[in-house]
Amino acid sequence: MIIKGFQKLTLLDFPGRTACTVFTGGCNFRCPFCHNALLVTEQDDIFYTEEEIFDHLKLRKNVLDGVAVTGGEPLLQKDIERFLYEIKDLGYAVKLDTNGSFPEKLKGILELGLADYVAMDIKNCKEKYAETIGLKNYDITPVEESMKILKNSGVDYEFRTTVTENFHTNEDIEKLAEWIKGTPKYFLQNFVDSGMLIDGSCKGVSRPQMREMLEIVKKYVPNAELRGI
Ligand code: SF4
Repeated sequence: MIIKGFQKLTLLDFPGRTACTVFTGGCNFRCPFCHNALLVTEQDDIFYTEEEIFDHLKLRKNVLDGVAVTGGEPLLQKDIERFLYEIKDLGYAVKLDTNGSFPEKLKGILELGLADYVAMDIKNCKEKYAETIGLKNYDITPVEESMKILKNSGVDYEFRTTVTENFHTNEDIEKLAEWIKGTPKYFLQNFVDSGMLIDGSCKGVSRPQMREMLEIVKKYVPNAELRGI
């Protein structure tokens, strides 16, 4: 496991849990608005050992009840299954974040009961997917596969989209919402500049536009919510 970040306590990352967050290194996407560029491009030399993580989990059993595993893209890690298994074996619930591009790996993890909650990014409407993830071309089949796997898994999950002025118009959001029609949990979150972006020119949208987008989404996903505004 390549672990490049560790937040010892979070009340935000794992709904309903007092958790810590493990950040894995590397990602196969290059979203210009990615708020963790160093972690994705692995250009720094910050690493955590698994021992550090597990020592903390053993010590904090009476305080924490969940571990959020995020990235980068956690499913890029060769031994992610073993890592999640060891977390579960200590009695913790696991939340897994993914960009949805490794459906087979996701399926295996869900079948083994190694994730209690999955948050999957839906980056944009199909037509603008490649551009939004910073690639010249991208076949969205794996993302669609992951969507289906989650829908049929019985595991609690959400879809979410980070909205930017640069890549998301109301029309794009409407097409996206039509694509994920009927999803039980969906969150629109406005882009926030972390100061560590892949492309520093990215901007969020105004609050009124976020609310407009939410109303558009609700025609297809009635339970959709805004997050973080
Ligand atoms: S936003 Fe997520 S999917 Fe996109 S580059 Fe960053 S870690 Fe990868």
